[in-house]
Amino acid sequence: MKVDFGRQIGDLFITGTGTDVGKTVATLCLGRLLQEQGVDVGVFKPVQCAGDDAARLKSGLAVADSLDEINPYFAPEPLSPHIAFKRQKRIIRPQTINAAFEKIRGRHEAVLIEGAGGLLVPLAKDYLMADLARELNARIVIVALPGLGTINHTLMTIQCAHQYGLEIAGVVFNQPCREQPTIAHETNPAAIGKFGDVPILGSIPYLASQDPGKMTAACREHLHLKKLCRPRRVSRTARLQRLDKAHIWHPFTQMRDWVADEPLVIDRADGNELIDTDGNRYLDGISSLWVTVHGHRQPVIDRALKEQIDRVAHSTLLGLTNAPAVQLARKLVEITPPGLDKVFYSDNGSTAVEVALKMAYQYWQNTGCPRKTDLVHLANSYHGDTLGSVSVGGIDLFHRVYRKLIFKTVRLDFPDCYRAPAGKEYPAYAFECVDRFEQHLKKFHDRTAALIVEPLVQGAAGMIVWPEGILRRFRELCDEYGVILITDEVATGFGRTGRMFACQHEGVVPDIMCLAKGITGGYLPLAATIVSQKIYDGFVADYRDQKTLFHGHTYTGNPLCCAAALANLEVFEKERVLQRLGAKIKHLSKGLRVFYNLRSVGDVRQKGFMVGIELVADRQTKKSIPWERQVGVRVCRAARRHGVILRPLGNVIVLMPPLSVSRAEIDRLLTAAYQAIDEVTENEYGEY
Ligand SMILES: *Cc1c(COP(=O)(O)O)cnc(C)c1O
Repeated sequence: MKVDFGRQIGDLFITGTGTDVGKTVATLCLGRLLQEQGVDVGVFKPVQCAGDDAARLKSGLAVADSLDEINPYFAPEPLSPHIAFKRQKRIIRPQTINAAFEKIRGRHEAVLIEGAGGLLVPLAKDYLMADLARELNARIVIVALPGLGTINHTLMTIQCAHQYGLEIAGVVFNQPCREQPTIAHETNPAAIGKFGDVPILGSIPYLASQDPGKMTAACREHLHLKKLCRPRRVSRTARLQRLDKAHIWHPFTQMRDWVADEPLVIDRADGNELIDTDGNRYLDGISSLWVTVHGHRQPVIDRALKEQIDRVAHSTLLGLTNAPAVQLARKLVEITPPGLDKVFYSDNGSTAVEVALKMAYQYWQNTGCPRKTDLVHLANSYHGDTLGSVSVGGIDLFHRVYRKLIFKTVRLDFPDCYRAPAGKEYPAYAFECVDRFEQHLKKFHDRTAALIVEPLVQGAAGMIVWPEGILRRFRELCDEYGVILITDEVATGFGRTGRMFACQHEGVVPDIMCLAKGITGGYLPLAATIVSQKIYDGFVADYRDQKTLFHGHTYTGNPLCCAAALANLEVFEKERVLQRLGAKIKHLSKGLRVFYNLRSVGDVRQKGFMVGIELVADRQTKKSIPWERQVGVRVCRAARRHGVILRPLGNVIVLMPPLSVSRAEIDRLLTAAYQAIDEVTENEYGEY
């Protein structure tokens, strides 16, 4: 075999279907056979309760590492580790194990790690053997018994490994006692290979001798090491990158730039971190585009989804209903401001807005005011990318091209709250714009159907934060002139601003509210358009009157999405997320102050967990850095090198961590953003 055999095999985590299945024997035999192939093998026994496994491995494989290095955690009693070490008044710390492992790994081509018991054995609170195996980034080898009763245990171990995202290198059968081989002994390995879809490495026969040399000789022809070689993955990352470039058209992306770059391939996640295919960890600084709420792989949401998937993944709301959709609607009515009583489901923010616009328009058609057809929106607004929502969008860059496709609306001038026109000041200028809405309504209220706004924070425009009182004024004017107020809380909803919904900051109840993004905790696409009884009643009529809302998407009210959303809300309650948010928001605000030390930072805007840092060429004149310089993109790329994922909006660096971030993670986010801005803008300031 080739010299790089050891590298091809890599580190292996030897676990068992139970205790006493012969993990140490299997580890010894595998290790010695690898050594025979010229592989420099190391061994690691992170946790041991009683016995002499580590010592046997050390002497059997004649490794130079000291026993303390091979086995950092030893407890004298033969108990489950979490009890054995508790009784020693010691806590097993993953960091300690990791550090010890790194040392051993550094010295060998491949390391055999022997677990203790099976994958679900607890090591500490919330930390199982499977978590450790994953952290050490080793493939696992399952040691199983060959006799009757082993299929179930082994398949369960395989399933568990899959659930934890562990890669299975293969299964080894070991016969620890002298017994007559039965039919089960002969047929079980093949059955497990087939039903578990795993490589079978072979069966170690009963070994009468404890002598490592004799043991190895006895199993040499029964174990097939070649099967341990990874299916040649020169680099999984490179392969995925190549296929991505070959087949994916990315959203909002100039694909020429994309294919010239090396995309980051995300493989999994853990809490507030994303992990790429090479095992690098990144803090998710933008909540995976503003959706993740309580972190990734949140146990409550994970469990809810698994339970729901065992019932039904999808059933339609056209002609039928389903439990999660009903329960979620009830819950949404409960948590949204009083007066919002009916829930219409769809799939994403844009459709939630489409639905709201059609409802508002048709409401007046249905109720005898057919002239009220105008939809009013604000400059700098963003409501999604489908043509209806683009029609009420106010960001020129996104909308200019589609000008001729979109329908006519009324656009209300509204400031970006950073650059007031000459001679104007904030917040007065923002209120002047509201006054202009009043002037408009005085003349045109009889043809104005609705006003749509992003309440308090205009996200996509660059985290424009409104002065207090604007939303309330809009509500008053809509009431006075009989105009439907639609609040698009797709971005601001579910805690982002510090309250569950942004309109609660000003005690405002809209007629129609659009929700999406965080509604499922960031797990699945789901949206809701929630309306008052009054709007709903405008559609309730005789079938023949054709006042029905003619709208519906195929996946409306999908049970799996609704189950995720219910679990999301359960976490909000259980963990008192909103109550605990204030302190974190303060911590974030405090940390943001230092950004003004950077000359290129013109404005730092924050509402709760929504932050925009605007970079400028000159702070005095507020002159922008030319967009072609792609300064935002470059800052985010630099932040990636500091272990944080960000995504800009033009020259505005957005920070929007999941609500579950810790203070330490907030600090990590701020430090990375600060350094990245510093590195990139050093040469930009004052250039233009
Ligand atoms: C993201 C967003 C949308 C669009 O949501 P999609 O799910 O991307 O269609 C609409 N409105 C606001 C305020 C948003 O932030």
